[in-house]
Order: sequence, then structure tokens, then C-alpha cells
Amino acid sequence: MPAIRPKKIKQPKRAAESRRPGQSAKAVPKLASDSRRAAGAIGEMVRRRAEAEAAIAEARKSHERLREAIDILPQGIVFLDADGRYILWNKKYAEIYKRSSDLFEHGARLQDTIRIGVERGDYPEAKGREEEWIAERLKKLYQPGERHEQTLADGRVILIEERLTSDGGIVGLRVDITELKQREASFRLLFDGNPVPMILCALDGERILGVNDAAIAHYGYVRADFERLTIKSLQAFDTELPWAAGRSSDEQAARTWKHVRADGTLIDLAIYSRQLMYGNQPAMMLALMDMTERKRAEARLAFMAQHDGLTGLPNRNLLRQRMDEMLLHTRRSLDKVAVLMLGLDSFKAVNDTLGHGVGDKLLRHVAKRLRSTLREDDALARLNSDEFTIVQCGIARPEDAALLAKRILEVIGEPYLLDGHSVTIGASIGIAMSPGDGEDSEKLLKSADMALSRAKSEFRGTFSFFEAEMDARAQSRRKIEVDLRDAIHNEDLRPYYQPLVDLTSGHITGFEALVRWLHPERGMISPGEFIPVAEETGLINPLGGLMLRCACLDAAQWPDDVRVAVNLSPLQFRAGNLLTLVTDALKQSGLPPRRLELEITETLLLEKSSKVLATLHALRALGVHISMDDFGTGYSSLSYLRSFPFDKIKIDRSFVRDLGSNRDAQAIVRSIISLGIGLGVTITAEGVETEAELSCLRTEGCHEAQGFLFSRARPNADVVSLLRAQRGGAADAA
Ligand code: C2E
Ligand code: MG
Ligand code: MG
Repeated sequence: MPAIRPKKIKQPKRAAESRRPGQSAKAVPKLASDSRRAAGAIGEMVRRRAEAEAAIAEARKSHERLREAIDILPQGIVFLDADGRYILWNKKYAEIYKRSSDLFEHGARLQDTIRIGVERGDYPEAKGREEEWIAERLKKLYQPGERHEQTLADGRVILIEERLTSDGGIVGLRVDITELKQREASFRLLFDGNPVPMILCALDGERILGVNDAAIAHYGYVRADFERLTIKSLQAFDTELPWAAGRSSDEQAARTWKHVRADGTLIDLAIYSRQLMYGNQPAMMLALMDMTERKRAEARLAFMAQHDGLTGLPNRNLLRQRMDEMLLHTRRSLDKVAVLMLGLDSFKAVNDTLGHGVGDKLLRHVAKRLRSTLREDDALARLNSDEFTIVQCGIARPEDAALLAKRILEVIGEPYLLDGHSVTIGASIGIAMSPGDGEDSEKLLKSADMALSRAKSEFRGTFSFFEAEMDARAQSRRKIEVDLRDAIHNEDLRPYYQPLVDLTSGHITGFEALVRWLHPERGMISPGEFIPVAEETGLINPLGGLMLRCACLDAAQWPDDVRVAVNLSPLQFRAGNLLTLVTDALKQSGLPPRRLELEITETLLLEKSSKVLATLHALRALGVHISMDDFGTGYSSLSYLRSFPFDKIKIDRSFVRDLGSNRDAQAIVRSIISLGIGLGVTITAEGVETEAELSCLRTEGCHEAQGFLFSRARPNADVVSLLRAQRGGAADAA
């Protein structure tokens, strides 16, 4: 195969090159010069043409560059000539009007494409008013500079802006604002339809730009009137704006603002604000939370926390606050402060007989009378159900307090007309003075309370000043309480036993267990001193339980015909576990129930509670005997005898003591004995100290006696020897 050689390409020869060497221009004849001229003209033409072609190429290139440049713009752009014919448009323009883009053609008139578009339904806004719409659109085209919006068939919204160019043409911009419009619409929805009242206002609060329906409903203004107001004109007191400079949003949220409604009423608002752009100006969006109800509830709660619900008087907390202020004030002057603690006498009786409704009314009347008796700057409070406290300030001497106390007692003592009943009630007052009876409010209140206890127990119906010795007594009670707790815990309390003697046979029938406390420092303390403390503090329950267990255990070791009597406090019935306590003590000790006697006092039956009676019956059903102790000292002893079938009645020592000297005592003892015989109940006389008393009781037919004449209470270890001695026959076992 022959080798392939590249073809030699013929190069056109240029004029100058075709000249032979050595041939000069001058030597050329005329014909030659003409043809030379013609050649020159042709050359010129060729050159010009080349230049024009280059210019066109250059223009085409820059047109291409322009197209490339406008194609990358995010907005649609179109150039029209002075006749409104298309010159140039970019990709985005064609994309925006994709339904009409087939009509875009160089030289086509915009108004024709619009008309065709309208006919095809590309512009839903034109529907039904096509000609009118086209006219408006073209008018806008030739009044350029204004922006307007156009909705397309697929729902997109296009912003149009058109301007004249220097050659009388038009350059048009198209921006797809569909998303923006949607966002605006949802914002509108969020604002207008929000149940939270909202206000949009200028940053300086001077102009209200918009309010939602909830705000209109809340304030009661007509929309137009509302939008003429300023934020400051809505505020009742504040001259500052909630979003004032320097205030953090937390600070703003922590407080409330009082706004005025259209009808003049005030509302408490929490205002949440946020800055945003409204069009192209910064604005504030306010969300308003009505706190009026919450504020009111808070105020109510605060009032309730410091006041007594029944009378509306300050309670202990508020009183102490006020007292502290008064005391601070008087510290700098010579004035004194007196605390008068007033207790109503027999208020419980009013409650019990006339009902709580009347009781409550009485307390309200008392509060009113007290308030009207006091000076403006004296304080009055209700601390307990039937106790009022008055703090009298700015007085010089205790006599001033005494005068007030007297006046109060008079005023309170006047009859009250309550639900048709005329009620009269007495009162007692305890008085403590600063600074002597206490430096601070707490101490003064305590002192006045002690003075009141004394007034109630000793004088009733009058007033009593605090004395230091009361305080000492109270202190020692507190010490007893503390020590008693330990004593119960360590079982330092023991029963001692005092014999009960049958007056016919002279035999010991049983022993009464009496609690004894051997205090490590004070020696033997009598129950009279610590039983009341135990009852006040609730320690009576563990104490009573301990006594019951010990007595049963001890008695279980005694001869089978000897009983043990245990005292019960009324409070042990309230505890609710008495029956179990007794059953357990019996079971643990093995003592038969018939050998246990329980002594109760009349105070237990005062309440006439069915629960108490049920417990008593249940105890009796066990086989345990029930005795009524201290008979005759209560209010209606005889009626109590009807309420429960007692096994034994113990005549109180006070009657026995007077037997020799007092005829009435003799008559009473005699009738109690015959009553007992009539009811078939054993009668025991307590506190027999002399033979004379004993013989008198024997004569009257008393069954049993107990007293120092026979023996004092003795430790368990002595019981056996006591029994042995008396069974020898004598009643002088002591
Ligand atoms: P009470 O049950 O009436 O007990 C009789 C009190 O009279 C006892 O005083 C006793 O020592 C005393 N006494 C007995 N014979 C004579 C006498 O001939 N002359 C005088 N002057 N006094 C006599 P005590 O032991 O001081 O008890 C006083 C009260 O303490 C008791 O009165 C009883 O109510 C209560 N008590 C004693 N022990 C207990 C207990 O364990 N539990 C409860 N709840 N109360 C108890
Ligand atoms: Mg007793
Ligand atoms: Mg007694």
C-alpha cells in the first residue's frame, strides 16, 4: 500500500508578494497604474468589510455576554423597544411566564402576547373584565416606575417593576414573590386570628400599626379608634414603654402593666414584645396576657395568708409584723407598748347550745366592738378561736393599759342579739407590757398569754398583768415536759399501790395504782404536778399505757382475790386505741379482767360522746370493772350515773375530809351511800385519814375505804407484806 502523504494546501498569494523582484513601481505603464488604483479601492472595501464584520462579531459577542449576565440573575428581566416589542429577555423571565413563553419572539409586541395570554386564561385576575384589565396593564406599562403585583394561573404572585430606558424603550423586572406572600398570609392569620390580644406598633410606641380581633375584644375600642392611640395612652400609670432601653426581657416579663380599657376599667397585663420589620420599618409586636384575675387571686391569697377568714382581722403573722414595727418605733421613745390578750369566757357553751353559726356571728360582733373601742393606730388580731389580741401603742404607764382593759370588758359584756337570742358573754384579759415583760413580739405575746391563763383560772371576768413568777412557772412546766419525755422512755415512772379496804371484813380488796416519778434531781414528784403537763402535751398516752402494763404485771403476782385499780385520763379515750391497750396489758400479764378496775372521772362524760360510751361498754364487756373517781366534784354527777352502769363510785376526798365538821358534807356522803346501795354499786370513800371519819362512814353503811389511815401508796415490793399484816385482822396496816 502506498504511503499516505498529506496534501499540500494551496495558499492564496497576496498582491505584494506576486511582484517580481527588481521590478519598481515607477516603471509600471498607465494601464498598470489604473489597475493598481482599482486594486487599491477593492482592498479598501475588503478592509472596511472586514472591519464591519469584526464590529458585528464584537456586538454579537457583547450581546451574548449581556444575555449570559442577565440569565444568571434571580429576577426575570425583559427589554422592550420604544414600540413595546421584545428585544431581550432572560431565562428567569421565560420561566416565570412559562405558559406564555412560546409567544416570546424577537420583535413581537408585548401587548399582543398579553392579549393572547388573557384569551388563554393565563391571567386569572382578568377573568370577566378582560379588555379593562388589558387596558390597565398597558397603562401601567407606559407609566413606569410603579410596582404592582400580578397573579398567574398557577397561583404564583409576580411583582412587576418597569422603567423607561434612555432610548425610549422599557426595561422590566419580574420577581416571584409567591413564598413571601404565603408567609405574609400565614403571619396575618397568626396575628388576626390569634386568641391572644396583639398589637403591632411603631418602635417608639407612638403609632399603633395594627391590632388583632382579640385585642379589640379585650380593650373594647373600635378598630379605627384603637389605631389612632399610642401605647403610652393605653398605659394607666407608666410613662415608660415596656421595652424601654436597658430592660431585659426577663425583667419585662416579671412585671405587669396597668392598661385602661375603653370603658375606663383597668387591666393588669404581662406584655411580651418582639421587634420585627414591618414593610421596611422596624416595629414592635406585642402579645398581651391578661393577669387581672391572677393578680386578684394573688392578692386574695396574700390577704388570706395574713388575715383571719372569719373576722377579716389580721392573724398572728401580720400582728407580729405590726408589733415589730411598733416596738422598733418605741425603742427610740419613752412610750410603752401593751399587749392585751382577750379570751372569751364560756364561748364553747354558746357554740354548743346555739350552734356554730351563732358562735361565728358572735365572734364577728366582738371583733367589731373591739375595733370601735380602739384607736386607729392600735392593732387588733384574732389568734385563736376565742382569743383576740390588742396591741396598744404610745402609752406611758400600765394604768393606761388597765383603763383600756376595763373599757373593753364593759363593751364586750353588753348583750348581743344573735338570730333572735340575747347572748351575754364575759371575757378575761391578760396584759404584758414592753419592755419589762418582753423585748420582742414573740416574748410579749407569750407573757400576755400567761397572764390570760391566770386571769381565766383565778379571776375570770377581769384582767391580770403578767408577773415574772408566771413565767417561772411556765418555764418549770416546760422543763417537766422535757424530763417527762425521758422518764417515760426510760420507764422511770412506776406505780405505787394504795390499798382499798372492805369496811365489813377489814380485808384489803385491792390496790389503786398511783404513778410515782423519782426525778434524778428533784426527788419524788407528785402526779398533781406532772399529770396536767402530760395531758397538755399528749404524753399522757404513753404514760397511761406504761402504767396499765406495769399494774397488770404486778397484780398478776398478787393473790387471786386482790384487784388493781388504774386511773385513766379522758385524753386516753380520744387516742382511739384504749381497748387494744387494755386487752394487750391483760393478755401479756395473764391477769383475769375481773381483777382490773379502771377509774374514770366525770370530765370524761362531759362531752357525752357516743364513742366514749361505746369504749366504756366494750371494756366492761371484757369483764373489767369501771369506777367513777372523785364523785361529787363535777357539774352534774347524778346525771352521769344514768349514762353508764358503773361498778363503783368513789366519794371524793373533799367530802370525807369535812365529815367531822360539816353537816352538809355528812348529808351528801349519806345520800351518795344510799344512792349506791339503791343502784347496787360499791361505794368507796377516798382520803380517809382519821378513825372518826372511818366510824362515821361505817355508820352510814359505806362499803369500802381508802386513805392514809390504812396506808399511803407503797411500792409493789411492800404489797405482799401489807396483805399479810391486814389479813391478821387489823385495819392499821399502815
Ligand atoms: P386519785 O385517783 O383520786 O388518787 C387518789 C389521790 O389521793 C392520790 O394522790 C392519793 O395519794 C391521795 N390520797 C389517798 N389517801 C389520802 C389521804 O388520806 N389523804 C390525802 N391527803 N390524800 C390521799 P396522788 O397519788 O397524788 O394522785 C393524785 C391524782 O393523780 C389521782 O387522784 C389521779 O387523778 C392522778 N393520777 C395518779 N396516778 C395516775 C395515773 O397513773 N394515771 C392517771 N391518768 N392519773 C393518775
Ligand atoms: Mg383514782
Ligand atoms: Mg380520787
